[in-house]
Amino acid sequence: MSVYLNSRFAGFESYVPGEQPQDRKYIKLNTNESPFPPSQVVIDAAARAAGELNLYSDPECVQLRKAASQVFGVPAEWILPVNGSDEILDFAFMAFCGKDAPIAYPEISYGFYPVLSGLHGIPAIEVPLKDDFSIDYMDYVELHQNIVIANPNAPTGLVLTRDQVEEIVRSNPDNVVIIDEAYVEFGGESSIGLVEKYPNLLVTRTFSKSHSLAGARLGFGIAQSTLIADLNMIKYSTNPYNVNRMTAAAGTAALGENDYYLTNCGIIAANREYTAGGLRDMGFFVTDSKSNFLFARSDKIPGVRLYEALRERGILVRHFSKKAIEDFVRISVGTREQMDQLLQAVSQILSS
Ligand code: PMP
Repeated sequence: MSVYLNSRFAGFESYVPGEQPQDRKYIKLNTNESPFPPSQVVIDAAARAAGELNLYSDPECVQLRKAASQVFGVPAEWILPVNGSDEILDFAFMAFCGKDAPIAYPEISYGFYPVLSGLHGIPAIEVPLKDDFSIDYMDYVELHQNIVIANPNAPTGLVLTRDQVEEIVRSNPDNVVIIDEAYVEFGGESSIGLVEKYPNLLVTRTFSKSHSLAGARLGFGIAQSTLIADLNMIKYSTNPYNVNRMTAAAGTAALGENDYYLTNCGIIAANREYTAGGLRDMGFFVTDSKSNFLFARSDKIPGVRLYEALRERGILVRHFSKKAIEDFVRISVGTREQMDQLLQAVSQILSS
């Protein structure tokens, strides 16, 4: 920390992303990326766009929004493309929250929520989960606060139904409810269909997981035009060309091949169930994840030990040091071959 850092950041802890090690080749099951590469059409579109990198990108992302409108089933004016869905969360925290406008979210959830509230000086209301790690949606009904909920939640993978989400949104009409659907394509119920009915709902999406574009950084905010206008005010005041040319082209092409990506999501969901079964057979407690990761704990080995032992064997998973979940590891779901290697390694570790 330099002497120049503003005092409001004294002791501030920034977000810690999952490792992206360059030292050796790992089976990477630590950051919930897709194991499938983008399709050739997407690669070609990005390459063509690379030839025009001397020009700024379209700040309005007209083509991308048009393609997204077809797939999400909402007007293009309701869609705001962003530089990864972390950016739309940042915009939303800035636009709708403040010192006098707190934000509520589950105590165990995506680590960016407390970081953003700290960064922007927003009081956070951390709502405990139930003992089974699920979210009690009634905790948010008539809360009368801004709310952000990941659905499926991270790192548990557990879901709320669309009806439960609707009850939360309907009963907090004076506040914004953000539903972070980063993992919804792997088995959750989307709330995009509710946007038409509720001017206080913002749904966020990412192409990092379902659409094999983590490295491109592409996310979306979906809300009625009034909320989108507020979010655009922040965007045009921070980063007007937030989606670069290659990413916009890649995203537009990926939207044109949505079925290919949804098929991949189905394969990942099947691999998830297969792996959960294998872990349960070895005595693990595994939450009923509907996302592209598993959240698992064994009485036979502490979470951090399992993380380390897998790392030594060339398999990266994620361990969180937060007390309530320190016994767990989070395992991204990859190909069947990767999952077989994981199960084999876990079995060896437990028996050694
Ligand atoms: N929301 C949740 C719940 C996540 O786990 C992530 C991935 N770290 C994101 C949002 C952000 O994803 P991205 O910025 O890659 O779109």
